[in-house]
Amino acid sequence: MKVGVLALQGDVREHSRALDGAGATAVPIKTRVDLSSVDALVLPGGESTTIGKLLERFGLLQPVVERARSGMPLFGTCAGMILMAKEITGPELAPLRLKLMDISVKRNAYGRQVDSFEADLDVESLDAPLTAAFIRAPVVERVGACVEVLARWEDRPVLVRQGNLLAASFHPEITGDHRLHELFVSSVEG
Ligand code: GLN
Repeated sequence: MKVGVLALQGDVREHSRALDGAGATAVPIKTRVDLSSVDALVLPGGESTTIGKLLERFGLLQPVVERARSGMPLFGTCAGMILMAKEITGPELAPLRLKLMDISVKRNAYGRQVDSFEADLDVESLDAPLTAAFIRAPVVERVGACVEVLARWEDRPVLVRQGNLLAASFHPEITGDHRLHELFVSSVEG
């Protein structure tokens, strides 16, 4: 099964490696044609303002929205989560977004680059804790009624799901533990 990784900016290589490790075939996505060839899509971390602008410039913003609305599984991490959020609170906006998921996020609210940290998370349906890296991560301030919280850190949601949409405020792709990618890949298969 082919899983695309949006390859406009951010940690594309790490996600591709994690997806390959999870049994999928990772495909870098830069165009609409690329997008039409995959069964699912990962939006990597990076800088959400920049990725949003590039999504529009490359003519991908609307096509990704349309595919996701018609059921394509989408997994956004960190900046990817910000792009998926319907609402952004706080001073830093990212106007060009997909706005698919009923969550409100605040950018960089776990602190600056120097405040980056790792945490062991209890994730629903995983047997053992998952080590997650938080790097200038967004805080999820609100989740809508149709959003499931799959993991929390210090009482705040950090992994959320709404139907075919999965979003993490952390980076699951840089720790060498591919279980979250496996979970995503199995949701694509199912
Ligand atoms: N701070 C970035 C943003 O607000 C996200 C950081 C990340 O993806 N690691 O867009």
